[in-house]
Amino acid sequence: MKEIFPTPPPLVHNQFEAVRDLFAKNVVPSYGRFDLALSHGAGSYVFDVAGKRYFDLGSGIAVCCLGHAHPAITDALVEQSKKLIHVSNLYFTEPQGRLAAEIVKRIGAGKCFFANSGAEANEGLYKLARKFGHDEGRFEILTATNSFHGRTLAGIAATGQDKVKKGFEPAVPGFRHIPFNDLDAARNAISPATVAILIEGVQGEGGVTPATPEYLVGLRQLCDEKKLLLLMDGVQCGHYRTGKFQSFQRILEAANPQSAIRIPNSEFLPDALSMAKSLGGGFPIGAFWVRAPFADLLGPGTHATTFGGTPLACAVALKIFEVIERERLDENARKLGDWLKRELERLVENYPTVLKNARGLGFMLGLEFVEKEKIPALAASDKPVSIQMTNRLQQAGVLVIPAGTQVIRLLPSLNLKPHEAGEGIAKIEEIIKSLA
Ligand code: PLP
Repeated sequence: MKEIFPTPPPLVHNQFEAVRDLFAKNVVPSYGRFDLALSHGAGSYVFDVAGKRYFDLGSGIAVCCLGHAHPAITDALVEQSKKLIHVSNLYFTEPQGRLAAEIVKRIGAGKCFFANSGAEANEGLYKLARKFGHDEGRFEILTATNSFHGRTLAGIAATGQDKVKKGFEPAVPGFRHIPFNDLDAARNAISPATVAILIEGVQGEGGVTPATPEYLVGLRQLCDEKKLLLLMDGVQCGHYRTGKFQSFQRILEAANPQSAIRIPNSEFLPDALSMAKSLGGGFPIGAFWVRAPFADLLGPGTHATTFGGTPLACAVALKIFEVIERERLDENARKLGDWLKRELERLVENYPTVLKNARGLGFMLGLEFVEKEKIPALAASDKPVSIQMTNRLQQAGVLVIPAGTQVIRLLPSLNLKPHEAGEGIAKIEEIIKSLA
């Protein structure tokens, strides 16, 4: 009998080289990838195509908030896909409405728009800001140096890092960068064209740097005074990663009562906030929330995306909220995250010839290394310390995420267990000890 579908060429299983060849021939090489082809996962562990197990402390760069292959996500996908995967936003669906209500409940009075990624959620923020300032001819958005807001054309214009912009000039106009955590610089940068300030609550790609409470509150006051929108990018630092739903909630909670804070935590809100990554736990979904007075600025016909807020994506996101709440994973991120940070601080103290600094909040932690030249075992390589350390940890069976040249990030799933955290620290210490 004649074959309807030709048999695919045999794929040599368990061989990294075979997968890499497929990529070399067929996939645009825009990513710098590690020599690792992953095949499946369970909880905080993933396995490569040769069957080697890795402890995943990166969770897909802060995406897989319930770990890998979580049965609740699988069930939500299966059950919802039996009913409806997609309908157009020409119609209403209950899961999208319910998910918006869950997000509003956790931030404050406002409304949500659904997209598919972090960069796209941020695009919504830029359009919101432009619409807000349009009639006065204001359009400029101030963003922070070392920030990261995504890889679309406007995303790289918003991102305060030259490396993402190079080769793609001319930049989308209307973005200028200001030093992070510097209120005076923000005030001095405001021009008659400025309409908004956009910051991450904790800079992720820039090396895990939290905003100070004084900066957040100061920006809020500055934006009120100058009629600017205060926009926050919660794509990486949101969704309970810091121990609270959004990072500003954790940062302000931690504020020292003796400090210059004049706005109580409960009264601080940004005007709009983007999210993605952990919102879908690995299933693509992005969103932005916008505060009540501005929630109807983007009226019918002003903004849209085919796949925004599909019943399938929203069903998964709703299930994730349910699991996080039921299992108190916010508290886990806070308590175990605080423990991890203390352990990283201990390593910094014990290995000063290798480590410079540990920082972060909850399950968003960064470990900064001293300059490469000062670590004999790493000095000869032309690769940055962050990449060399990530490689060494991979060989030892631990996945971490580099940030810039000096920092490795730990962004574990929210359901990380204490013994797993201990295992991770022990392996990290082993590698650092070998370099000291
Ligand atoms: N904003 C921040 C803070 C991010 O960390 C990222 C991705 O790393 C993005 C935006 C872009 O998100 P996406 O890659 O989903 O477009």
